[in-house]
Amino acid sequence: MTCNIQCLNGRCDRRVDVRLETLPQDQPWSSVGLRMVCSACGAAGSVHNVGAYASFAVDTELYSELGYGELTLSLINMGTRNYYLSARVDKQKASSNIVAMVG
Ligand SMILES: [Zn+2]
Repeated sequence: MTCNIQCLNGRCDRRVDVRLETLPQDQPWSSVGLRMVCSACGAAGSVHNVGAYASFAVDTELYSELGYGELTLSLINMGTRNYYLSARVDKQKASSNIVAMVG
């Protein structure tokens, strides 16, 4: 997972992709961004996070005795967790049925 970071110093406009794992995981973007220095123009703290400072998590659960399984893909953003996609697969006599929900 990467985010795209843009320098806001004058017309520099340099953009770089940064792997989220290399940034401090326990600090908000507001303090991480202030400590960044542009490698093109040398400006400090003059950055804009173009991409979301976020990652996804996938949960799956198979209830074989109940005949269905569920998959949930959720967006984790600054410590909050918003559900993004959830799918349920029902086993039927000769086939399977899948229901997807987003939100
Ligand atoms: Zn710059």
